[in-house]
This record gives sequence, structure tokens and C-alpha cells, in this order.
Amino acid sequence: MTSGTERPEHDHDVYRTLVESTKAIPWTIDWATMRFTYIGPQIETLLGWTPESWVTVQDWVERMHPDDRERVVGFCVAQSQAGTDHEADYRAMTRDGDYVWIRDVVHVVRGEDGAVRSLVGFMFDIRDRKRSEEQLAQLQARLEELSYQDGLTGVANRRMFDAVLEREWNEARRAGQPLSLIMLDIDYFKQYNDHYGHLQGDECLRRVAQALLSASTRGRDFLGRFGGEEFVMVLPDTDAPSAMRVAQRCRDVILEQGIVHEGSRVGGTLTVSVGVATQRPTEEGTAFDLIARVDKRLYAAKQLGRNRIVSEAVPEVERA
Ligand code: GH3
Ligand code: MG
Ligand code: MG
Repeated sequence: MTSGTERPEHDHDVYRTLVESTKAIPWTIDWATMRFTYIGPQIETLLGWTPESWVTVQDWVERMHPDDRERVVGFCVAQSQAGTDHEADYRAMTRDGDYVWIRDVVHVVRGEDGAVRSLVGFMFDIRDRKRSEEQLAQLQARLEELSYQDGLTGVANRRMFDAVLEREWNEARRAGQPLSLIMLDIDYFKQYNDHYGHLQGDECLRRVAQALLSASTRGRDFLGRFGGEEFVMVLPDTDAPSAMRVAQRCRDVILEQGIVHEGSRVGGTLTVSVGVATQRPTEEGTAFDLIARVDKRLYAAKQLGRNRIVSEAVPEVERA
């Protein structure tokens, strides 16, 4: 026996059971009154607010993270008015004041005349997805950081130096300020490795890098490992006498470490040779000129006996 009413009621119960047992939370809103006509009971499990407490669209707006409101409400209202199905991610506020990432997927129901009648949607809990997205973003940021870091000493690497020098060169040219460069090279480091082994050589490089970090106190000064046992400093807005003072401090802080170096031919402790150059960048010049000049002076410091700083223009020194 089938009566005309039993079947639809049965269907209704089946549908209700279906929508109320899924993880997605169904809801409907009447467009004319902007009131909820239905919201699944699962909402209480997820956010703590009872289904009955969702009365008007305003409740939805108020239970959204303030930083998401303008973007999401503006978007959803515009899409709904245009009669376009849409979806939006936002943080919904729980009754305890926490936030849960939600994806709301909205279908716009229109009448025969084409006018918007109601909105039917599902809210999905996308916390896990957001968490992995955030972890991925953090990982990417860390990787990018690492790609500019020297793995051994932890100071900036050559790639970072290239980028910083380029930036500071352009900045100094724009501002009409002098830019200084200091290049340091450990004396007889090959002998250090030969005498104490590469692992101790590595440790020595780490100590030198740390010491050099303390040689400058200005925030914009930059220290990087140029390669091997060579370090470089970029000193923006710094004239020649000031750069010379920083170079002297570099040499001093390394001497103060008192790193024993028996293989050195310039004394029993570890020393460095240093080149310093200063330039006011011009339109024609490039940062390479500055590197070439500082490199020449470092080479002169080696030729003149090591453990010293050369900051003046040097007569041409023939490369060995
Ligand atoms: P000079 O006084 O002329 O600078 O002599 P030097 O021995 O320091 O210069 P040279 O260029 O002959 O040797 C540099 C040495 O630096 C050789 C290389 O093994 C060592 N070196 C470069 N990078 C590293 C590193 O990452 N770890 C260690 N332990 N040694 C390194
Ligand atoms: Mg070298
Ligand atoms: Mg050396």
C-alpha cells in the first residue's frame, strides 16, 4: 500500500539523514529576508553555536574573523546578487572565541523569473588543508633563507653578497653617498688545514665569521662569506676613513681570538690580510669596479707581507 504522502516523507527523512550525517555542514538562506531557513546540526559540533542561534545573515557576518569580513562578505554578496555560484575561505569564530578555517560553497537558487530566491550551501572544515599550506609556506621561506646562507658559518653567502652589493650600489648612486667594501682573506689557511686538519679548519672559519659579525655595529652593514677563507663586508653610506676604522676592528677582533696557528709565517696566531675600497657610484661605473679595486688591494696586502690592511690606491702589482 502506498499513500500519496508516505513516499515524499520517507524521501525527506532520507535526505535529512544524508545531509546531517556528512562532514560538510548544509545551510539555506532565504534571499528576501536574509534569514537562515536551515543549518545542519553538525555546526554545533564544529563551532559550538547551536543551529537555532543562526538566525540572520548578520550572525554569519559577526561570527567571522574581522580580518576576513570585508573581503568575504563583499565577495559573497556581489556573487549572490549576480546569481553566480561561488565559494569562499574564511575563519569562522567558535563559541570559545577560537577560529576555524571554513570553505563555504554556495549555490544560488533562482525562480522562474530569474530572480534570486535563496542560497544553498555547504561549509567544509578546511583546517587540515590550511595547516599544511602554512607549513609549506614556512618551509619555502626557510628554504629561501637557506639558499642565501653559508652552510658552514651561518653568515650570508656569495649569492646574498651579490644581491646586497647590487642593491647598495644603486642606493648609493641614487643618494649620492659613498659605498665601501672590505675584503678579508685568512693568512696561510692552507697550512692551518694541513697542520690541524679540515674539521678544525672549519671550526676556525666559524670563529672568524662570528668575530667579524661583532666588528660592525651598524645595522645596514653586511658581512658575507665570499668563498673559501675569504669574507667580505659591504658598508653603505661609509667614507674611506670610517671604512678604515671598521677594517682595523675586523683585524683586531680576529687577533683577539688568539687562534693558535703554528704554520703561519707571520706569527703564532691566526691573522688576516685586508683590502678596503670606497667609491661614490656613478652612472658609468659598476659594482664590479669596486670589487676589482678591493681585490687588488687585498692582493697588495698579501704581497706586502700579510697581516695588514691596504686601503690606498696601490701601484700595479703583478699577479704571480
Ligand atoms: P694566503 O696567506 O696567501 O691567503 O695563503 P692561504 O693558504 O690562506 O691561501 P690558499 O688560497 O693557498 O689556500 C686557501 C685554503 O683555504 C685552501 C683550502 O683548503 C682552504 N679552505 C677553503 N675553504 C675551506 C673550508 O670550507 N673549510 C676548510 N677547512 N678549509 C677551507
Ligand atoms: Mg684566499
Ligand atoms: Mg688565504
